[in-house]
Order: sequence, then C-alpha cells, then structure tokens
Amino acid sequence: MAYKIALAGIGKIARDQHVPAIAASPDWDLAATVSRHGSVDGVEAYDDLGAMLAARPDIEVVSLCMPPVPRFDYAKAAIAAGRHVMLEKPPGASLAECHALEAMARAAGVSIYATWHSREAAMVATAKAWLKDKTLESLHVIWKEDVRKWHPGQTWIWQAGGLGVFDPGINALSIVTEILPDPIHVTASELLIPENCETPIAASIDFAHPGGARVTAEFDFRKEGDQFWTIEIEAREGRLTLLEGGGALEIDGKAQTAGPATDALTGEYPRLYANMARLVRAGGVDMDLAPLVHVADAFLLGRWITVDPFIE
Ligand code: NAP
Repeated sequence: MAYKIALAGIGKIARDQHVPAIAASPDWDLAATVSRHGSVDGVEAYDDLGAMLAARPDIEVVSLCMPPVPRFDYAKAAIAAGRHVMLEKPPGASLAECHALEAMARAAGVSIYATWHSREAAMVATAKAWLKDKTLESLHVIWKEDVRKWHPGQTWIWQAGGLGVFDPGINALSIVTEILPDPIHVTASELLIPENCETPIAASIDFAHPGGARVTAEFDFRKEGDQFWTIEIEAREGRLTLLEGGGALEIDGKAQTAGPATDALTGEYPRLYANMARLVRAGGVDMDLAPLVHVADAFLLGRWITVDPFIE
C-alpha cells in the first residue's frame, strides 16, 4: 500500500525531482502540497503547514523541499503532529537544530531522513567498493559551477544560513564521506565572500586523513564554460576519478559502467524515495550529518576574504 505524502516548498527541486520521483513510485501517493506560492496540478494545495496537518491526519509523511533556514520550524511541526519527515539537503541550517530534530523524531517514534541525493548518483557505490581496500594517497574535490546558470534568483543562497558555494559543495562532501573508509576532518579553509553577500562564492578546504593522505577541496560559483563536479583520487594501487557529480567514473583512465542494479531504480531521487519508504516501514532514523559537520568546520576554521560584489 502506498504512503500518503505531502510535499512542502514547491520550488525548483520539488518540481524538477521530487514530484516526478513520487509519481513514478508505487510506494507513494502525493496527497497534498504546502507552499505559499506553488502548487502541483491535481493535488490538494495548502499555503500553511499547520492547516494541512490539521486537515489531513491521513498524510503520514511530509517531505520538506524549502531552503535550509526555514526548514527547522516545518520539520518540528510535522514531527509534533506525529508525521515522518524527509529533509532535503542540507538537513538544517545548523548542527544543533539537526540534533534537536533527531531527538524529537526519536521521542515521537517517527522516522526522519536526512537525504543526500548525490550519494545516490549512479557510480558512487562502485567508487566506494573500489576504495574499500585501497591505500589512499590523495583526494581532491573540484566543484566549480556557474551560479547564474544553476541558481538564478535564489537570493537565499547569499543570506546567512544559505551556505553560498557550499549549497552545491556539500554534495561533494556527501560523496566523499560516503566513499572514504576513514574519517577525515577539516584543518584549514579559505572562504571568499563577495562584499555584498553573507555567504561564500568560492572556498577551499584542507583535511587531515588518518593515513596521512593529502585531502583537499576547491569550490567555485564563478565558473563559466565547462562545469566541474569532480573528485580525483590517487591510491597506492591506482587512480579513480568520479565525474559529473558521481554520475560517471574512471578507474586508471578507463570509463566504468555501473554493476548490475540491486533494484530496478535509476536516478538519485527515485532512490531517495525508496530509502524513505524502507525507513518508514522499518521505523528507522537516518540522520548522517557528516557532510554538514565539514561545512560547519570550514566556517569555524575559515579565513574570510572579502572579494568583488556579486551582481546577478
Ligand atoms: P527554491 O526553488 O529557491 O525554493 C524552494 C521553495 O521553498 C520556494 O519555491 C518557496 O516556496 C519555499 N521557500 C523559500 N523560502 C522560504 C521561506 N523563507 N519559508 C518557507 N518556504 C520558503 O530552492 P530549491 O532550488 O528548490 O532548493 C531547495 C532546497 O533543495 C535547498 O536546500 C537546496 O540545497 C536543495 N536542492 C536544490 C537543488 C537544485 O538543483 N535547485 C538540487 C538538490 C537539492 P513558496 O514561496 O511557495 O512557499
């Protein structure tokens, strides 16, 4: 039987990914939307979460697609109303509020899922399997995209809590923390902040690795032309490159194809919704905050450098 789900925050990612993934899955029935301006054709629309929760006690799951800063209040209200909650990335605007949400969900006996869509990219599992028994020598993240192309008009990205270039950059860190067998931690970072913004337009991070491997990352929102969502890894035993945000993989320069699928699903969001259905069925909690820890530490340890204003 399908779970009734409400989607809240009907904007870019809800329309591009969540609505089609829910529609294509037998696990889910999109029963309502909650959005101040948006709606989905043929689906009951609310502009207030409290009104939806009161009117629709039959909706068991709420999936939250708004930007991180407002998300906490929505998640808290949904949990208080006894609903399972699925969180877009990053799961919150701070670590403490994510810990609080997890504690609330456990106390209420509902599931909560901090989704990391890039971990579901086609070649991430293959990269993780390859790395498992290798000796890491270096890992370098290159995440460079054109903010004007991918985030037009998204002023929240430039406001405190919006993460700036770490909004896409945290996707790289979600992959790194998924595929590396060993934990890493931030040792230094540089944050380039436009003088008219509150969040970085570019950043670099150095990490410590327990085996002494050199682990670094560079993020840039100012990249025109070719776009890079790449993770380059050198191990004693060979070289691995994840490209296209985890969608493509080369090992020792040779393109790889995904192994036999363990299920019929393709695509990041269909997999996230399958994970959520499994979590709700099992009564589980999945709140891995490792990518957000690294971003928080990059802000804590960051050297802040003011750069030219960003004019969209
Ligand atoms: P968006 O289109 O700018 O915003 C989504 C919706 O959130 C808006 O349409 C708005 O709906 C609602 N919203 C915005 N500010 C709000 C506020 N202060 N209070 C309540 N609701 C608010 O953003 P998006 O690109 O979909 O991104 C949303 C989240 O998804 C972010 O955390 C982002 O990192 C993640 N994500 C985005 C992408 C992408 O490609 N864009 C990919 C993966 C993940 P109403 O005005 O109708 O309420």
